[in-house]
Amino acid sequence: MIKERKSGQLIVISAPSGCGKGSVINGLLKRNKNLWLSVSTTSRQIRENDIPGVTYNFVTEEEFKEKIKEGFFLEYTNYVGNYYGTPKGTIKEKLDQGIDVILEIEIEGAANIKKLIPEAIFIFILPPSLKTMVKRLQKRGTDSKEKIIKRFHTAYKEINEVTKYNYVVVNDILEDAIDKVEAIITAEKCRVDRIEEVFVDTKEEEIHELLMDDEKAFDNESLSEKLDLSLIHISEPTRRSYIS
Ligand code: 5GP
Repeated sequence: MIKERKSGQLIVISAPSGCGKGSVINGLLKRNKNLWLSVSTTSRQIRENDIPGVTYNFVTEEEFKEKIKEGFFLEYTNYVGNYYGTPKGTIKEKLDQGIDVILEIEIEGAANIKKLIPEAIFIFILPPSLKTMVKRLQKRGTDSKEKIIKRFHTAYKEINEVTKYNYVVVNDILEDAIDKVEAIITAEKCRVDRIEEVFVDTKEEEIHELLMDDEKAFDNESLSEKLDLSLIHISEPTRRSYIS
């Protein structure tokens, strides 16, 4: 029998501003009940589409700095003049419950997570073209011209970081991009290194005896009793946890 790790998978998704990463993640969440999106804390201004407590937890810069001192964050960064941070607490809880957790964070935060949790999956989303990226940035009504330009330069630099990730997905057709990210998560779940223990060996002798026994070898009940065991056994939530 093979014992697989039960803890959820940590999935880090980054994308330069203007890649439509939010739509990809929303699509994923709609399709998968076992996925949970971590809600970051930020000191940036609330935008039109923001829902406090859902898109972000909004705090002042002073409150953010206080939380840094308290050790509230798994990682945090200052991005284009505002603070953003991933709270530690709920993530550990969700992973221990076997729920997959998505962190939607920029590249510096992703690099910090890689140091802390190298077994996380790192996915980078790209726009189909620079034109699409610029157009998407301009569409954000609440950002000033200066902010849009700053975000463009940051996004442009970020594209060079793609090779630090495990996977890259181009968000051209939204449904295709969601399919690809879903496929990556599924493939990761089948990785051999998610297996904790293999104990197929212990059954070999028993099955040998069964096959030697002329009566039992062709008897369905005996066969079911011995062989109807799933080879992949999902263990109870393990003590082994990503985040301490
Ligand atoms: P926006 O202001 O457009 O919502 O986000 C700006 C950038 O901050 C995006 O690239 C987003 O992924 C990133 N971000 C959001 N939350 C976090 C976080 O908790 N940590 C880090 N490092 N980046 C974050």
